[in-house]
Amino acid sequence: MSGTVPFSQFVLKVHSRCDLACDHCYVYEHADTSWSRKARAASDAVLERTAGRIGEHARTHRLPAVHVVLHGGEPLLAGPDRLRRAAELLRAALPAGCALDLRIHTNGVLLSRRFLELFAEQDVKVGVSLDGDRLANDRHRLFPDGRSSHAKVLAALALLREPEFRHLYAGLLCTIDVANDPVAVYRALVAERPPRIDFLLPHATWDHPPLAPAGAGPTPYADWLLAIHRHWTGQGRPVPVRIFDSVHRTLRGRSSLTESLGLDPADLVVVETDGTLEQADSLKTAYDGAPATGFDVFAHSLDEVARHPGMRERQSGLAGLAAQCRACPVVRSCGGGLYAHRYRTGGGFDHPSVYCGDLLKLITTVRDRIAAAPAAVPAQQRQPLTERHLDELARGLGGPDAVAALGKAQLELSRRLVTAAGAAGNSAAWQLLTEVDRSASDALDAVLAHPYTRAWAVRLLGGDGRADLGGLAELAAAAAARGRVGFELLLPVRAGWLHLPTLGRLRVDGRAEAVLRGTADGLACDGHTVSWDRPGDHRWQPVRRVALPGWTLALEDTDPHRDSHQWTAADRLDDAELHAWTGALGEAWDLLGRDLPEYAAGLAAGLGTVTPLAPGPAGRDISAAARQAYGAVGIARPATGPVLALLLAHEFQHVKLGAVLDLHDLHDRADERLYHAPWRPDPRPLEGLLQGTYAHLAVAAYWASRVRALDGTRGGDGAAARLQLATWRAHTADAIGTLDGSGALTPLGRRFTAGMRTALAPALAVPVGAAAERAARAAAAENLAAWRAAAGRR
Ligand code: SF4
Repeated sequence: MSGTVPFSQFVLKVHSRCDLACDHCYVYEHADTSWSRKARAASDAVLERTAGRIGEHARTHRLPAVHVVLHGGEPLLAGPDRLRRAAELLRAALPAGCALDLRIHTNGVLLSRRFLELFAEQDVKVGVSLDGDRLANDRHRLFPDGRSSHAKVLAALALLREPEFRHLYAGLLCTIDVANDPVAVYRALVAERPPRIDFLLPHATWDHPPLAPAGAGPTPYADWLLAIHRHWTGQGRPVPVRIFDSVHRTLRGRSSLTESLGLDPADLVVVETDGTLEQADSLKTAYDGAPATGFDVFAHSLDEVARHPGMRERQSGLAGLAAQCRACPVVRSCGGGLYAHRYRTGGGFDHPSVYCGDLLKLITTVRDRIAAAPAAVPAQQRQPLTERHLDELARGLGGPDAVAALGKAQLELSRRLVTAAGAAGNSAAWQLLTEVDRSASDALDAVLAHPYTRAWAVRLLGGDGRADLGGLAELAAAAAARGRVGFELLLPVRAGWLHLPTLGRLRVDGRAEAVLRGTADGLACDGHTVSWDRPGDHRWQPVRRVALPGWTLALEDTDPHRDSHQWTAADRLDDAELHAWTGALGEAWDLLGRDLPEYAAGLAAGLGTVTPLAPGPAGRDISAAARQAYGAVGIARPATGPVLALLLAHEFQHVKLGAVLDLHDLHDRADERLYHAPWRPDPRPLEGLLQGTYAHLAVAAYWASRVRALDGTRGGDGAAARLQLATWRAHTADAIGTLDGSGALTPLGRRFTAGMRTALAPALAVPVGAAAERAARAAAAENLAAWRAAAGRR
C-alpha cells in the first residue's frame, strides 16, 4: 500500500434514517440519493465484517489507535442493543495495544438515561448537533411535522452534563447559518458547557453556492465566524473551537484538527449500513453517487479502498490542489477547504473552495489578530513567572514568591474578564467599579482576586444562565464597601439575599431587586442598617474567616458562584459545623506544617478560600479545585484531620497547576488521546493525567514523611503508611513515565516532568519493606490489567 496513508478514522453508519427533517442535511437534502437504497440499520453481519476489517487494518499498519464514529441518519434509531453489539464487536476485533476511541454523533432527540448508561458502560463519547439558541436551531433542525427539537436536545444535554455522564460529553456540532446572530449562537452553545465546539460550513459547491442573506457582503461566513472569534479570544478562549484552533495551529505550521482545513492527507472512510465503503460523507453534496467507491466490507480490504483514485486524490496534499490554491498565500492553512466544496460540474474537484473568499478572509484576519495580540499585553503580564519560579513549580512545590506571582497573573486575568463582561454596558455598577479603582484600588483588587469573581465573569461571557449582569453590581458594591467608598446601587435579590462577594450577604425578603446604600459606617437597605461595628446582626451573614498561625482563610458559604467545584456546595454552616470545620482546619494545618512544610508555605500564600461541600455520596471523601476559581478548593468535611490535610495539599496542587496552564502550554492541547492513570479505572486526557500526577506528588511526599516519622513501627499506623507510600509513589512514577512517553509535552512540559521526577526521588528512596512493595505492585498490576481489559473493550 505504498504511497497511501492508512485509515485511522472510520464513520460507521448504524442507521440510515433520521427522526428529524433538517433542511440543511447533506444526507437527505443534497445531490446524493443513495440513502434511499440503503438498509435501514446495519445488520449483525455488516457490523461483524466491519469490525473485522478495521481490526485487520489496525494489525497490518500497527495502528496505536483507531477512531470510530457511530453515525447515521440518526444512530440512536439503531437502538441500544445494536449499538452495544457494534461497540463489543469493534473492541473484540482490535489487536492488543490498539486503543479504540469510540464516539457517536447524534441529534440528541432520543438521548436518554438508558442510552447514556450504555455509553458509560461501553465508553462511547457523545457529540450532539445543536445550531445555537432556539431561534437559530429552529431554522433548520425540526421534526418532519415542523415541531421544534430544541427543548429535547437541551434536556439531553442536561442529562449528559450530570456527573456520572459528564466524561462522555464530546462536544457540540453547529452548522452555520449566517442569518443567525453569531454571538448569540456562540453564547447559547457555550451555555451548554461543551468540552469542544465545532462550527461547520453548510455543504455547498460551485453548482450550488452557499446561501447568503440579501445585502450580505462578499464574505458573510468569514464575517460571521470572525465575530465569534473576537468574542472567543476576548474571553480567553474558554472552550476549544475546532475551526479556530485549526487556523491557529496551521498558521504555526502544525496539523489541522479538521478535514475542512489544512493539507493533511485524508485518512477517513465511511461504512454504510449495507457494508458498502464510501469516501467522506460531505461528497454527498456534489452529485449523486459521488462518495461511492464500488467496494464493500465483505469483498474488499481497507487497503484496497485506500488505493481508490478518489481516496488517493484526497491524500495528495498540495499537489492535488487547483493551480489557484497552489499559488495562494494561505494554502498551508486552508488546503483548498473541504474537498466536496471544490466541486463544479464539468471540472470536478479541480477548483478552489466555493468558500474561497471566506476562507481567505478568515485565515488572514486571524493571522493579523494573532500578530497584533502580543503587543497589546505588557511583557510582565506575559511572563509573570521567573525561571526560578518555574523550577520550583515544576518540582511540584512553589514557595510564597512563586505562588504570589501566580496570584498576580490571575488577578490580571480576572480584571480583563470583568472588564470584558462589564464594560460594554457602561452601567451605574461599572461607573462605581471604576471610581473604586481610582480611589481604593486595593479594595477592588481584593474583590477581583476573589476566586468566584472569575467564575462569575466566565459564566456571564459564556452565556451561562447562572450568571447575570447583576453580578457586576454585587462586585462593585463589595469593592466600594471594602474601600469605604459611599455608594447607592440597585442589586439583585437572590433567593432572599443581597450578596456582597468577599463580605457576606444581607437578608432582604420579598423583592427581586433592592437599593443598597453604603457609607463609611456600614450598609443600609430598606430602612435596615448593618454597621461594620456590629457584625452579629441577624440579617447580615458575613463570610467567616479562620485565622491559623501563618494561614488565614475564608470558609465560603455565601457566594452565589461557589458552586464551581463539580460537587454540590454546602448551605450556610450552622455554629456546630463551623466549629467542627475550624477545629479540623486547625488540626490539618498542624499536620501540613509537620509533614509537608515545603508545600504548606505555598499553600498559605495562595489558598485563601475553602468552600464546604455537601457530604459526598455514601460518605465518600470528596474535594475539587476549579480552573476558573483560583485560590479556592471545595471540600466536604472529612472525618479526620489527616484526611483533610491530604485533601488540602492535593487540591492546592491542582490550583497551582491550573494557574500555570493559564500562562504556559505544557502539552499539545490538540492531543486527543487518552492515557492510563494508575489511580483511576477510566482513561484520562493528557491534561487530566498531568493534573493527577502533580497532585499525587504531594500525596507521595506526605506518606514519605509519615513513614519516616513512624520508622520501625510495626503493624497499625506504620504498616498502613508504608503501604500508602509504596502505592502512591509507584502510581506517581508510573504516570510521570506515561507523560514523558506521550510525545505530546512541550519543552516546558518536559521540564515539569523532569522536576516531578526529581521531587519524587526522596519518596522513592524511603524503605517500606518487601510486604508493602509486594502489595503495591500487586495492586498496580491489578489496576493495569483492569484498565487493559477496559481498553480492550473500548
Ligand atoms: S483561500 Fe481559496 S485559493 Fe487559497 S487555498 Fe483556500 S480555497 Fe484555495
